[in-house]
Amino acid sequence: MALLVKKIKGTEDILPRQSYKWQFIEKVMSEEAKVYGFKEIRTPVFEQTELFRRGVGEGTDVVQKEMYTFETKGGESLTLRPEGTAGAARALLEHNLINDGLPIKAYYFTTCYRYEKPQAGRQREFHQFGLEVYGAQDALSDAELICAANSIFERLQLRNIRLEINSIGCPECRKNYHKALKEYFEGHKDTLCGTCLTRLEKNPMRILDCKSPVCKEIAANAPKILDFLCDDCKEHFDKVQKYLTAAEIPFTVNPSIVRGLDYYTNTVFEFIADGIGAQSTVCGGGRYNGLIEELGGNPLPSLGFAIGLERLLMVMDAQNIEISSPESPALYIAALGDAAQVKAFSMAKTLREAGLEAQFDIVGRGLKAQMKYADKIGSKFTLVLGDNEIAENKAKLKNMSTSEQKDISLGEDFMQEFFAALIESETNPALSL
Ligand code: ATP
Ligand code: MG
Repeated sequence: MALLVKKIKGTEDILPRQSYKWQFIEKVMSEEAKVYGFKEIRTPVFEQTELFRRGVGEGTDVVQKEMYTFETKGGESLTLRPEGTAGAARALLEHNLINDGLPIKAYYFTTCYRYEKPQAGRQREFHQFGLEVYGAQDALSDAELICAANSIFERLQLRNIRLEINSIGCPECRKNYHKALKEYFEGHKDTLCGTCLTRLEKNPMRILDCKSPVCKEIAANAPKILDFLCDDCKEHFDKVQKYLTAAEIPFTVNPSIVRGLDYYTNTVFEFIADGIGAQSTVCGGGRYNGLIEELGGNPLPSLGFAIGLERLLMVMDAQNIEISSPESPALYIAALGDAAQVKAFSMAKTLREAGLEAQFDIVGRGLKAQMKYADKIGSKFTLVLGDNEIAENKAKLKNMSTSEQKDISLGEDFMQEFFAALIESETNPALSL
């Protein structure tokens, strides 16, 4: 078959045979968000380009190189969201959510669009889950946020995922730090990559985030931000560490974490997993006290994180964390003849009303083909209905994994007997919905 249209490079389809995994992690995340007091926010997939210029930051790779920006027929410049925070912050201001009482805690699931080189763990359309906290300055809120991410990874049974934290201070302490960084990197001008030479002029801290091995090596010996923190920022960072220790969340301080977005201040953190290649950061976040002001609001201390869902699923796959597939039907009813089909239809309806997946033939196959289909869709049990079974009001219930058969009443006792058989057959220890 010559396919007329194919999916766009850097995008992926999530097929019916995989979507249960997505539903599972989304369920865990929204449940954890809920117990931590977060409510869902949904914002549009496109926004005015200006929002991301301001909210993500003019000097970032995302704005400089990665945005999907287009002009509308009316001549307006719009951009597909490259991340979830800017839209949430805009909505907060636009709807005056501050009046609802601070802090505001919101979570989101979004698709994000970035024009990047597709590779394992890096797509052009990808998915994020994120938490946002607006109107909280205390270090307790940093610790609580990190704790929420940690709870999600624990519930998903992830192993070997490490938390690295850092503080990049406030604009005040960064002034001196920038000076020191500039001096240091000026001495390595002939070896830095082209992009880092521009960064050296605009924002030398970005060099610490460069992925080029040469720049990384130079950056390893650069002055450390932690030596430049003012007293307030130092105290804030000390407290974050104290609270994480009290909550028994293991972490290491990594002074080279600076995060890619302009609006970060103070705490920044990443959860990094081994075993999925170079793109190993599953979750990135931190505090962004300057963001709301940058978007035209009054200063509002804020923080948040985003988890990349594709990368998270890659880690779960790599660690053989099994998510049980909820897709196998409890019962497939094979029916032959008019009366049996009508009976199958009504039995399936009763089972479905009880919350069980039940299927029967809707395409007019013969018995053999129906049984083959039941096997293909992995039905736990099958039942064959013909004129005899209808007349006797009983049929053979077959357990498809053991091939055991037993009589089951088609009358009032059917549901009770079927439930008993179903419970007896349940032995799956995997994570499930
Ligand atoms: P990276 O350094 O990997 O480019 P980033 O700093 O650009 O990450 P954020 O903007 O903080 O990432 O996004 C948060 C998370 O979203 C990342 O930790 C990652 O899990 C995921 N993510 C970011 N970009 C992509 C992408 N192109 N494809 C898939 N997942 C991504
Ligand atoms: Mg990036």
